[in-house]
Amino acid sequence: MDSHPGVELYKLGIGNTTEAIVPSVIEGLRKGVEKLSKRKTYTGYGDEQGDTRLRQAISKWYAERGADIDSSEVFVSDGAKSDCANITAIFSDDAAVAISDPGYPVHREASIISGKRVVSMECPEKNNFMPRMPKEKVDLLYICSPNNPTGTAATKKQLRSYVAYARKHKAIIIFDAAYSEYIGDPKLPRSIYEIKGAKSCAIEIQSLSKAAGFTGVRLGWTIVPQELQTEDSGEGMLNRFWNRRQTTMFNGASNIAQEGALAVLSAQGQRQTHKQVAYYMENARIIRDGLSAARMTIFGGVDAPYIWLKVPDGLSSWGFFDELLEKAHVITTPGVVFGENGEGYMRLSAFGHREDIERAVRSIRKNFGAIPIKRS
Ligand code: PLP
Repeated sequence: MDSHPGVELYKLGIGNTTEAIVPSVIEGLRKGVEKLSKRKTYTGYGDEQGDTRLRQAISKWYAERGADIDSSEVFVSDGAKSDCANITAIFSDDAAVAISDPGYPVHREASIISGKRVVSMECPEKNNFMPRMPKEKVDLLYICSPNNPTGTAATKKQLRSYVAYARKHKAIIIFDAAYSEYIGDPKLPRSIYEIKGAKSCAIEIQSLSKAAGFTGVRLGWTIVPQELQTEDSGEGMLNRFWNRRQTTMFNGASNIAQEGALAVLSAQGQRQTHKQVAYYMENARIIRDGLSAARMTIFGGVDAPYIWLKVPDGLSSWGFFDELLEKAHVITTPGVVFGENGEGYMRLSAFGHREDIERAVRSIRKNFGAIPIKRS
């Protein structure tokens, strides 16, 4: 900041991981590199859909959550962002797409870029910040749970209602589960396939970015069930379309990253990565407690690494962004950047080193402790 030279800024804005990858996963990545160093174990191009061992491990990972996913339905990718965007390619140009507002901007932008008609689904406080069903018939619905930016996770009942809508209208749900590992409440669904009937109407997109610190390594996957059906496509067709799209326009995820993913999905990898998720969730608790002590109205941050803060009456998201920056030197993300229904809110991220999170929270408490606003 030019006007405040030398001032330290505290970042609660960005959804990027900060902690070192856990030892068992580093070991997996190392193994991937080692394999490349010997003629006997070297591999070049692999299957575009992913290494068979990894596809099988993913299928087993779903089985442990009560979902029956065949490895032919698993498509390994270089992360959720590209799949969230590219998946629109297998649907007709005149498809109407419903996106959550506020929501992950890629869902909206990719739909617009691919020429689809976009319909907003409001995510009001009354609905646990999950999207209200579209009033008109749509062909695709992006649902993200736990939701970025609002930090709330859908209940089974809520997911059942989206599945019921999709089945009734022969629509497809694109379920973005990038934050599923942050769900602590065992009653909340971590996969859409925990809902009966979802395999006929939902594609699920997953990522190891936030679950295992793979934001830079890059690995995710998309499940396209064989039994998916739309008005004009029979069983197996969308799986074949996605297979065709991926084998033509994608050359597979890095073999090193895939070895790392195998390590993430191992029993030891799961234990260690879950512990790291718990570290970020402790950050979330510190932010929640600090903001509550400053009598701010907050949501989320219990089953997700994001806290959704209601700005004081009379201020806009950007207005409060400026106040937090000027007074407490804390950088947050104005809710309005996630859609017009995000106006009046801010997103705070729990990704950060513990000491930085504590410093940011102390600064907010010191400078905003006396704000007379209602607590939720
Ligand atoms: N989906 C949501 C909701 C996200 O917030 C993000 C990243 O911030 C992604 C997908 C992208 O994840 P990846 O790093 O796997 O591309």
